[in-house]
Amino acid sequence: MGTKEMFYFFTDPYEDEILYSVIARYHYYAGNTSYVDTLMDFFGSITNISVIEFPRHLSVLESRFKKGTKYTSEYFINQHSLFPYYAPFLPSKVKDSYIHEMKYSPNHGMQFALLKSSIGNLCKQDKLRYCPLCTLKDIEMHGEAYFHRIHQVPGVFVCPEHNCKLKNYPIEKGKVKFGHYVKCNTKHLDLEPQYNTNIKLKEVADCTSYILKHALSSFNKEEIDIRYFNYLVHRGLALDTGYIRRAKFKQEFVNYYGNEFLTLMDSYIDLTVKNCWIDKFLLKSFEFINPIRHILVMLFLCKNAQTFFSKKDAYIKINLENRRPKLFTINIERRDRYRKEILQYIIDNPGSRRQDLRRAMSKQHRFLFEKDREWFEANLPAPIPRKGTITSLEARVNWVNRDVELLKLIKKARLDILNEDKPIRISQMLIAKKTGRKKIVLNLLSKYKDKLPMSSNCLSGIIETSEEFYLRKIDYICRELYQEKGFLKRHEILRKASLTKSYKQTPKIKERIQDNISRYNS
Ligand SMILES: [Zn+2]
Repeated sequence: MGTKEMFYFFTDPYEDEILYSVIARYHYYAGNTSYVDTLMDFFGSITNISVIEFPRHLSVLESRFKKGTKYTSEYFINQHSLFPYYAPFLPSKVKDSYIHEMKYSPNHGMQFALLKSSIGNLCKQDKLRYCPLCTLKDIEMHGEAYFHRIHQVPGVFVCPEHNCKLKNYPIEKGKVKFGHYVKCNTKHLDLEPQYNTNIKLKEVADCTSYILKHALSSFNKEEIDIRYFNYLVHRGLALDTGYIRRAKFKQEFVNYYGNEFLTLMDSYIDLTVKNCWIDKFLLKSFEFINPIRHILVMLFLCKNAQTFFSKKDAYIKINLENRRPKLFTINIERRDRYRKEILQYIIDNPGSRRQDLRRAMSKQHRFLFEKDREWFEANLPAPIPRKGTITSLEARVNWVNRDVELLKLIKKARLDILNEDKPIRISQMLIAKKTGRKKIVLNLLSKYKDKLPMSSNCLSGIIETSEEFYLRKIDYICRELYQEKGFLKRHEILRKASLTKSYKQTPKIKERIQDNISRYNS
């Protein structure tokens, strides 16, 4: 499809379907053999790879439809992306720049990378999720299943409509081949509902659903802050002079949720620590904060989202600037610009070290090191301790070359192991052996680990724990058994896998065996 062409057919999005799922269905029904074709049809570019939360190049997608249809960029953003979940909590002056990025992608998702790095990856989900009862309803109504947006939001563990636990679609997002889109195939689904008994989980899901559905675009961080503050005053947790009783707030907050629940939400609070996330939440009103935490505070203060957002009472207008301690006043625009520049450098120079960054971007490095330490430590490459006196450029370049060479050998060794007839556990020793230079490799990696960052990172990423190995082995055995017998039996899998007693019982292994059985035997 060229740049100006229209869809000759389109998989109309279902209610609350993520765009990702629309693309997966399109790919299937269009009979495209390559995802490149599908991506070109949608975005005229293949850089919008398998994105679930914030799709980009939407202006191109919009141009695929006749003017006057409902399919505009805004429609896709509001109805089929996760942006509305974040939108009410963003500062007013930056909100438009995110929308601009989704429409035109001028900087390849940089804005969102920055946002994600600021708010942290709370309640990270490796798999797409579904609700058994929603799925049954979808099959009845549409004859097929699809992935719902609300079920993919971090922090949502139950379906707000049916109050049953969400289930993982048995394919990990990370394991899908680069650029592929997984269509929801009913063959892989377990449609037996399990009901939730935790009322707080349901409340979080309801609140999230309300935010998504109501596209609260008129709200922004500043507006929300004022509402919080009014509730705080009302609850006796703040004075209308702007002073917040933080210790009291923390105590009541932890009493309300309990730390077990807060841990589930990646928001544990240690009452003995002075500077935890909730302190920042209450003090740094300019910060980006993860919506999960907004929802927790909102529910604590006001019980449900509808009341919080719809209340139109007169609010005490206070100047939040005045109550902010001096400690936190830094130039935010400058900070964000520097953060962006540093991230761009890291993207452009893979494998770069902290020292390189300090040299190339000394101004940004110094500023963020002094004023934005937490972000700095979380996003820069780990520091490499200085040893000896090898500082000349030549010595450095030699190490870089060696690292690249070693990395190639390690990658090749891994492929060789994976191509063996039977699965063998990938260990450091085996990798070293397979490179054909066992002693050198082991020696280098034990003594000069910090001079070989790419190789040692790669190695630690690919060596398998026993459990990881068994999971791979189970997939292999199931494939073999199925080819041989056409049907899987649990005891046969267990016998062939020759697992030790303790591994037979681990939840991941049990789940993997069950996944395979349901997949092959259905
Ligand atoms: Zn449901």
